[in-house]
Amino acid sequence: MSTKVLDIQDVTVSFDGFKAINHLNFSMDEGELRVIIGPNGAGKTTFLDVITGKTKPTEGAAYFKGQDLRKFKEHEISRLGIGRKFQTPRVYLNLTPRENLDLSCNRDKNVFATLFKKAPPAEKRTVSGLLETIGLDHKADIPAALLSHGEKQWLEIGMLVAQSPDLLLVDEPVAGLTDEETEQTGNLLMSLAESHSIVVIEHDMEFVRQIARQVTVLHQGSVLCEGTMDEVQNDPKVIEVYLGKETTLTPEQMLLLRIAATMAWADDNFADVQQEVILDRLSRRFAHNPDEQASLRDDLKDLLAKEIPLEELVPQLTTPAQREEALMLSYEVISANQINQSEAVVYQKLLTMLNLPPDTVSRLEAAAREALAASN
Ligand code: ADP
Ligand code: MG
Repeated sequence: MSTKVLDIQDVTVSFDGFKAINHLNFSMDEGELRVIIGPNGAGKTTFLDVITGKTKPTEGAAYFKGQDLRKFKEHEISRLGIGRKFQTPRVYLNLTPRENLDLSCNRDKNVFATLFKKAPPAEKRTVSGLLETIGLDHKADIPAALLSHGEKQWLEIGMLVAQSPDLLLVDEPVAGLTDEETEQTGNLLMSLAESHSIVVIEHDMEFVRQIARQVTVLHQGSVLCEGTMDEVQNDPKVIEVYLGKETTLTPEQMLLLRIAATMAWADDNFADVQQEVILDRLSRRFAHNPDEQASLRDDLKDLLAKEIPLEELVPQLTTPAQREEALMLSYEVISANQINQSEAVVYQKLLTMLNLPPDTVSRLEAAAREALAASN
């Protein structure tokens, strides 16, 4: 039996009686990349605070590779091999990326021996190897102040890795990054996962889908559910927590949202106008006053996951009414701007899978065109 890299046993953290963490049980294996999601206030940051020793559990215990973390102070835990990346980058702006990394390496003398525990051959055990890993070799010698927000994030991740932790804790690494930077951050974390155990906390669902193997959902300080991204996103408990108690979005309605999003992604260009159509239609259909609609819009926006194969989605539509709804919404979405080849192909595929009578299809398409014209 291998020792867990992290084992959290029935931990509670109370702040003046309020339980930010409530009988939490969690464990992960060495080498795992685990993503933790959960609404604001779920206890995600407090969870990291418990691991790094910033906050001590009121009850329960946390173990890192079998060692009881309650026995160590914060700086000792960091030396045990747990590195944490905070949301705001903490790099020296007047130094270059190379100098920043040099400093981090020198904090730990035997770093070159242990830089990459199971180093893939491509990664050299040097600062220049690290610069390459984080994609900053071409900007190694300019002041860090000139880096973009995303590049600063990567530099900080590199500085963390330079201290050769076994476990990396990363809190919301893509907040405020461009789409391209977000994707590159995902690639970086996945490549680091080859030689580290990593916990990532993140809100950006598309990013989570890119990197996640196992996802843990926290809610009110406890684990609500765990599984693959698809399992988690289709779990009614998760949907309820994300969409709040007042809305009554069902798994079926969720499915409609996903199909529409998949249509919109067909050409790899989820246009703003397509997003508007989806959010507009669904929020007006499922919520009944302007306030509710506005908050539903916000929630739905977070859930526009990228391109789930139609083969997974369409079979989950159980009634003809749901299939008709899916067709109409999809048609509106792809017609919201000029229909192009790839959208047409995916739409044809959807039609085949929905298998609705041709005159029903024509009627729904006409109704969708009318609805679009009315909203323009
Ligand atoms: P998340 O990161 O998931 O948004 P947090 O772990 O930051 O959630 O917070 C969980 C809950 O605990 C929140 O309701 C927050 O207000 C509360 N909380 C966090 N830290 C403290 C603290 N030091 N004192 C009192 N309440 C706190
Ligand atoms: Mg937080």
